[in-house]
Amino acid sequence: MARAHRCPACGGAQLIRFCHVKEAAAGQQMIDLSLQKHRSVWSGVQATGARLEAHACRSCMLVEWHATTLADVVVDGVEVIVIDGSTSAEERSPPYR
Ligand SMILES: [Zn+2]
Repeated sequence: MARAHRCPACGGAQLIRFCHVKEAAAGQQMIDLSLQKHRSVWSGVQATGARLEAHACRSCMLVEWHATTLADVVVDGVEVIVIDGSTSAEERSPPYR
């Protein structure tokens, strides 16, 4: 939806873009919805990686989420894992011998 400006489900062209989707953090603070957050004693909860924006179709109500960037995402291998689909299935799991 973000690139084509069309809904992939119904073909509708009337979309709403939510550039900043807010969520409540500690206290009265509102922060941008993101895929990663950091909690600090000094500054509370902060969005630290992959701020999200959304596009909604006014016709069928489909909502698509997009990360504005993934450059600042911290990959830890536990909560955030990289999946590389560029290798073939045979390379990923060799045949049993
Ligand atoms: Zn639609």
